[in-house]
Amino acid sequence: MKSELVRIVLPFLFLTILNILLVFFVLHWIRLFLRNPKRPMIISTNDYARLKEDQVLGRYVVNEQLHAFLNTNTTKLKVATVGYSVNNRPIKSITLGTGQKKILMWSQMHGNESTTTRAVLDLINLLTSTEGFLKNILESCTIKILPILNPDGAYAYTRVNANQVDLNRDAQNRSQPESKVLRAEYDNFKPDFCFNLHDQRTIYSVGTSSKPATVSFLAPSHDAERNISSTRELSMQLIAAMNAELQEMIPGQIGRYDDAFNANCVGDTFQMLNTPTILFEAGHFQDDYEREKTREYIFYALVKALETIAQDEIKRYDRSAYFDIPENGTKYFDFLVKNVSVENSSQKRDIGILFKEVLEGKKISFVPNIAQTGNLDDFFGHATYDCLNSRDMDYLRSTNLRELLSI
Ligand SMILES: [Zn+2]
Repeated sequence: MKSELVRIVLPFLFLTILNILLVFFVLHWIRLFLRNPKRPMIISTNDYARLKEDQVLGRYVVNEQLHAFLNTNTTKLKVATVGYSVNNRPIKSITLGTGQKKILMWSQMHGNESTTTRAVLDLINLLTSTEGFLKNILESCTIKILPILNPDGAYAYTRVNANQVDLNRDAQNRSQPESKVLRAEYDNFKPDFCFNLHDQRTIYSVGTSSKPATVSFLAPSHDAERNISSTRELSMQLIAAMNAELQEMIPGQIGRYDDAFNANCVGDTFQMLNTPTILFEAGHFQDDYEREKTREYIFYALVKALETIAQDEIKRYDRSAYFDIPENGTKYFDFLVKNVSVENSSQKRDIGILFKEVLEGKKISFVPNIAQTGNLDDFFGHATYDCLNSRDMDYLRSTNLRELLSI
């Protein structure tokens, strides 16, 4: 009787335990798969090359190009004029999708910061294409885009508007027509997320590393103590999602922008109003002063953000991953020239040069200016020359740097 029991019960027990283990294994595998942020990208670089808006290239981007782009896409886009600048230039909005989750994004609030505008045009090309996976984004989200918020600044290639006001310091006073337009759009649209799109200077490194901050993000603070509200946490989680994606493409070239609180900044204000807001900063990529490569990375970041929102995947990302992104450092010059002879002396010094961006016709010239001299051992150059090296010296003497460096 006993042996009969063992003969029946033991295999039954064994099979049951095996089944339970199998179920646990499968569940664990599914969980890992769902949590893994390194799933293959949905857009390949080949797709991007096809989608890129190649009629709008380079740093100088104004209403004229935007309107030409919108006119060739009239049948596909819902376009509105939402206001006018100081000099009466129209400010356009484009609305895409029909979903519940509302995303408001604006670019060129600073007129000379066009990289994100170009990325947004590429994004519009993607969202109006027939890619299957987009159905989910457009059914889950309504996306409103103001591609050029400061058309006068864009035209004059200035940060400020025509009244010389920095619109990103006017969020409380709203003294400028452009600030009123953005706030009215915010109040009427009632977004669930805001994307504040900018360019940053070439001086930024990722922490103290020798990597340029090609893209930087910020989850703006909502108070001086830099507390983390549930709203701010959502911004951090969404940045964590984009960071995970971009690290695959430009490892170590993503930075975190300074989170000092300033209620006059638009991002801080919207965060105070409990709308998760993200600051995007397009920065320098190696040898890419026109920022056409950075434009591509901003595009991937935007797609990842929209996909993450559409699929309700934000909670999968931990806010600690946001704090793992190194803060921006300021370790870069455009040119770093080492060991320059000091006139009438045996001493040597290093010279850090930064470009001033000057509008000439419809092109931007990069004019070198001395930014710092002394021992610059702790700094990096996007290009570095050493006057002790005769080939470098010959090269420098053949350029317009000869006079600037007195060599
Ligand atoms: Zn800016």
